[in-house]
Order: sequence, then structure tokens, then C-alpha cells
Amino acid sequence: MVQSAVLGFPRIGPNRELKKATEGYWNGKITVDELFKVGKDLRTQNWKLQKEAGVDIIPSNDFSFYDQVLDLSLLFNVIPDRYTKYDLSPIDTLFAMGRGLQRKATATEKAVDVTALEMVKWFDSNYHYVRPTFSKTTQFKLNGQKPVDEYLEAKGLGIQTRPVLLGPVSYLFLGKADKDSLDLEPLSLLEQLLPLYAEILSKLAAAGATDVQIDEPVLVLDLPANAQAAIKKAYAYFGEQSNLPKITLATYFGTVVPNLDAIKGLPVAALHVDFVRAPEQFDDVIAAIGAKQTLSVGIVDGRNIWKNDFKKSSAVVNKAIEKLGADRVVVATSSSLLHTPVDLNNETKLDAEIKGFFSFATQKLDEVVVITKHVSGGNVTAALEANATSVESRGKSKLIHNSAVKTRVASIDEKMSTRAVPFEQRLPEQQKVFNLPLFPTTTIGSFPQTKDIRINRNKFNKGTISAEEYEKFINSEIEKVIRFQEEIGLDVLVHGEPERNDMVQYFGEQINGYAFTVNGWVQSYGSRYVRPPIIVGDLSRPKAMSVKESVYAQSITSKPVKGMLTGPITCLRWSFPRDDVDQKTQAMQLALALRDEVNDLEAAGINVIQVDEPALREGLPLREGAERSAYYTWAAEAFRVATSGVANKTQIHSHFCYSDLDPNHIKALDADVVSIEFSKKDDANYIAEFKNYPNHIGLGLFDIHSPRVPSKDEFIAKISTVLKTYPADKFWVNPDCGLKTRGWEETRLSLTHMVEAAKYFREQY
Ligand code: GLN
Ligand code: ZN
Repeated sequence: MVQSAVLGFPRIGPNRELKKATEGYWNGKITVDELFKVGKDLRTQNWKLQKEAGVDIIPSNDFSFYDQVLDLSLLFNVIPDRYTKYDLSPIDTLFAMGRGLQRKATATEKAVDVTALEMVKWFDSNYHYVRPTFSKTTQFKLNGQKPVDEYLEAKGLGIQTRPVLLGPVSYLFLGKADKDSLDLEPLSLLEQLLPLYAEILSKLAAAGATDVQIDEPVLVLDLPANAQAAIKKAYAYFGEQSNLPKITLATYFGTVVPNLDAIKGLPVAALHVDFVRAPEQFDDVIAAIGAKQTLSVGIVDGRNIWKNDFKKSSAVVNKAIEKLGADRVVVATSSSLLHTPVDLNNETKLDAEIKGFFSFATQKLDEVVVITKHVSGGNVTAALEANATSVESRGKSKLIHNSAVKTRVASIDEKMSTRAVPFEQRLPEQQKVFNLPLFPTTTIGSFPQTKDIRINRNKFNKGTISAEEYEKFINSEIEKVIRFQEEIGLDVLVHGEPERNDMVQYFGEQINGYAFTVNGWVQSYGSRYVRPPIIVGDLSRPKAMSVKESVYAQSITSKPVKGMLTGPITCLRWSFPRDDVDQKTQAMQLALALRDEVNDLEAAGINVIQVDEPALREGLPLREGAERSAYYTWAAEAFRVATSGVANKTQIHSHFCYSDLDPNHIKALDADVVSIEFSKKDDANYIAEFKNYPNHIGLGLFDIHSPRVPSKDEFIAKISTVLKTYPADKFWVNPDCGLKTRGWEETRLSLTHMVEAAKYFREQY
């Protein structure tokens, strides 16, 4: 019989209970027992929800107080010495590794001061995991038995679960060597790690688990030969053990085809594959499945919020049944549902028609169950009919289709995405307008978002202050920021972005075709959740979005004020995209909306315009090859469509952070000036890579995530290092990113020192 399966459920709770509890614990407002109680209640609630929905295979050990990868590091004792030396409890060690810990000594406890481990993006999602960090002194052993405890907890409730573990190869491959052991290759630790996996798996079997889900998402990457060999070795090893639960080897977020040789013939009971993201792999996967293996068909999207198309999904599952027989097919979510909001029923403000298009994690449980029943010959006619009607009505909805937008996207040509003349010819025209000194100074856009700003924004949203009052308040904030920048001597000013809640949401709210949730939170990292806007239909800009604030700022100063926009790729990446139109089309629609905004800013007298693209790098497809090179081409094209409608003398800036960038890809944007995150990359090779970058560049000189104030001498030292390889006449002086999370005190000092350092170098050249 076909079974239904869920690979993981969001752990944050329908009302962000987990965030409140963990932050409450960190702030000393609740005890550790109260924290654990919240965890237990959330797990119970999630298991029951899935049981009641009729899911056959329910996950356990998908819960985490911080991050599931970090949980494994604690379980396997992969804890650098700098954390163990404080003798913290296991949960405090976990939090210290995840977010750092600074604590003064008390009568009973010693002082603690330790920074967090590195945090990295989970594949191409917006989730971040805490990177396993290995050292030559790492001593693998089991600390506790979290997967077994949680399995038993569910069993105690009468719910049989399938525990989930990240597999050994992914765990090692996604980790790194600690700074004291840089020549250590994490995969070389496989042999030490495998017995611990075997131990925990046999404990699970002894506790009653018949099945486990072992995730090896690295199987969708371009895996080097040693990692492919590690896969074979690890699963052959598990095959040799007696008394282990049956293994479902799970992959997601892409195709496994290039790594099929490593997977074929492994002694695992089942293979899970993501047919939402990579439906084209179907035939190859079927051909590679062993005679007794089960195929788990990932068909309900774990990464997006669209209602499933039952007819289409059932056809895929039926094809699998035809080939393998009903007993060897499982209907599953494509990945864990961690990446989707918890429950659509918590949305009170969505337009009813739009709401009908969506399905959040709770609704996806029903989808898995209905598809399973349908392919098993059960009577789900009503559900199927309702689904067909809904899917059809979305396809035809007036809210989605805008023929003017479609026509305009089709009209994009080379001319629209190319500045009139090359940079060398634009530069002299720009210099005539701005007359900037060497080492021009600027900032990335936002200034401290104070409590006062948040209070006034809330008042305005609630209607307790009028639009006029709010505008007056925003203008006073802009004026404060302008005067401050003039006073300390910055060259290109910004208005400070006080009117923006979030760099994507602010524009999304003003673009037709976007929808917003009130409670659609998704975990980003630790206790930080995001609420991505949703691209529902063709995107267009009914009117100017940012001109008023920039024009006001420019009207009160004689220095140039930089207009500030969020680029098409970043708007796309930080939203839930449409699934009925490709990403390139959505990027181009955004690009056109932004192009109009750029042109409006220029027409209103704003001659420097920055279009931020911090998410450019993360949009990169996971594998090398045609898709990846196509992405580079259309991502750059979208940026150029947005920015090429201006005169030669208008200076286009862009900004990137969060990632290592390849100068060639930035070059393709043809921005006149770019600023990049740099303060934590004091690496001579990284500077050298940018040496031949043709246009102007600002390497971020200080870390805006830290309240620490660098001295003038520190800035001078940093700039000197860069100038050893980098030409002085192309070099801008600026921080790493926006200052919205900083306080005014440190902002004033840091920027003052930065400007003084720039002045020092002007005298030297
Ligand atoms: N202009 C934005 C700001 O300063 C850029 C933010 C970002 O790159 N993440 O806040
Ligand atoms: Zn940034």
C-alpha cells in the first residue's frame, strides 16, 4: 500500500512560541525547565497534528531549539575547546556555539566570553545552519541521545515516528576545519564518525524505531570524487550492521542524477527524491532504484506556499506505482516543511481569492494525505474537485495576469539593458557634476532605526497618527541624518531609510502583484524568523515609491544625495516566488518596475542612485553548468534593465554583502560604483581578485554587525593594506553595509574615524 510521509515540520510554533521561549531563556525571564516544557509542547502539538491529518510516516528529531545541524555537533561532541572550557550545561553549550555568549562572573558561575561558530546558508534556502567545526583535537563520542529521547517521547504519546538525522557525509561535507587545524579535511573523519551513527541508530532500533530518514542533501551538489566515495562507504557500513532500522536515504532541492553512481546499489531500504524541484530526473531515478527498494516521491513542495495541483502530482505518483508497484512507493513532501509558514488559517488579512491559492505547512499535511488516498483508489472526489477548481481559477485570475506587463517584458532588448556609453566615458561626465575628492566617502543607506522610529511607524500603521504627521516625523529624521553627515564631512549622502520596515517589503508593498502575510513566519536562523512577501502575479509599479524622501533629502543639502533602491534579484530571492512563471520573467518584471523608479529619481534631480543586490550570490543555482551560467546572464541583465535608462552623468551604485563574490559577475552589472562587504575578509587574495575590476569600488571598512568602534589608525592600516594591491583612484571609503541595527553613539564615532582616515590619505596622494 502507498504510504504518506512528511520529511520535517516547522518547529517555531503557530505563534512563534519557540522564539518567545528561547529569547525568554536567554534574557533570564524563564527557567531551563520552562524552556524544555515549551519544546515538549511544540513537539507534541506537531506530532498530533500530523497524526490527526492521517500522515502515515511522521518525523521525529526534526525539532531543535536552535538548529538541527548544531544539534548533531552537540550529539557527536564536535565542540571546540573554547566552549567546553566553561563547563556549561549541554543546552547552554549549544546556544554558546550558535550565538556566542558573554557573561560576567557571578558568585556561582565564572565569566564567559566566546563568539559564535560560523553560520552558513542552507543550500539555496534562506535558512542558515551552524557550521560543524572540526579540529585535530575533536574527540567524537555521544553526548546524550536526543534522537532516541524524542522518538520515545512520541512513542509515549502512542505515535510511531520515523526519526530524522542529517547523514554523515552531508554533516562532514558542510563542515569545516577549525582555525587551529586548517589542513584537516573534514571527510577524513568519516571512519571516526560512522560508529557513532551506528550506535545511535541501533539505540533507535532497540527503542522500537523500524525506520529512519537519513538526509544526504549534498547529493544534489557537484560532489567531488572523495565525497561520492564517502557516500558508498558510509551506507555500505550501515548495511553491514545488524539491528539497525530501515534507512530512507533522503535528498532534496535538486537532481541526484549526476551522483546516481554513488547511490545505485546502496543497501538502503528507500530513496527519497525531490520531484518538485527536479521533475526531469524521474526516468533516471526509476532506472537506478534497486529491485527491492522503495521510492519516496517528493511531490508536495517544502520550499514554497502554492497549493498543490493534485491531478499533476497524482500522475507522477501513478507513474512510479506503475513501474514499482504500490508497496514500493511513498508520497512525500519534497523536503522538510521547515521552509514554509506554519498555518494558513492564521492569516486574517489576506484577500480571500489570493488565500485560496496558498497552502502552508499545516495544509500540506492534508495534501500529502489526499494524494496518497487518491492513488490508492480511496474516495477523495470532493477534495480533488475543489482542488481542480481552485488550481484552474488561479490560472485564470485577473489578480495574476497583466497583459501590459507581459508585453513590456517581451520588448526588453539589448539597448534597454545597456548604458549609452562605456564607464570610461561616463566617468568624466560624472566627475564634472560631483567633483568628488580622491577616496570619496559614503555609507550604504540606512542609519540607526531607533525606538522612536519604530514607535512612530506603528502609530502610523495603526492610524493613531495621520499621514501628514508621519511624513513630518520622517522628514525630521531625514534632516537629522543629513545634518549629521554634513557635520562629519561625508561626500555622498543618504537619506537614512527611516521610512522602511524592511528593504524588500517596503517596495513589495508598493508593487502590484505582491501579497503579504501577517503571520507567515519562517525560521531564518536561531530565533530569527522572516516573513517573506509572496509574488502572486505580474508585477508593476503604479506610482513612484521612494522619490518623495530622496527629493526632500536633496532639497536640504548642497551635497549629492544617493537615491536608494532594492534590486530585482534581491526582491525576488527574499520573496516566495511564483511557480507558474520562471524566475527570470519575475526578475525582469521587477527590473522594469525599478527602471521606472530609477528614471523618476533622476528626473526629480537625484543624480546618484544605488540599487542594492545583497542576494545576488545566493540566487546561484546549486550546480555548475548551463543553469548557473544562464543565471549569471539574466541576473546581470535584470540589474542593467533597472539601471540603464539614465544619462551618462547619473552615477549608478550597487551594494553586495553576505557572500564571497566573483568580480567577473559584478563586472557584468556595469554599475559605476559598487560597495562590497569586506571587513571580515582581510585576506590578501580576496583583494587581489578585485585588482582588475574596471569600475569604482568601496571595500567595506568596518563590521556593522558589531557595536565596536574602530579607531582612525585602524582605518588607516586597513586602507593601506588595500592600497598595496588596489589603485587609489578607484577606491571609495564606506562601511560594510547599512547601519540600521547600530546605535547612534557608535555610528557617530565609527564614521567620524572613517572620514578622518580618508582625509589622511587625500593628503598623501
Ligand atoms: N541599503 C540597505 C541598508 O543600508 C542595504 C541593506 C543590505 O545590503 N542588506 O540598510
Ligand atoms: Zn549589505
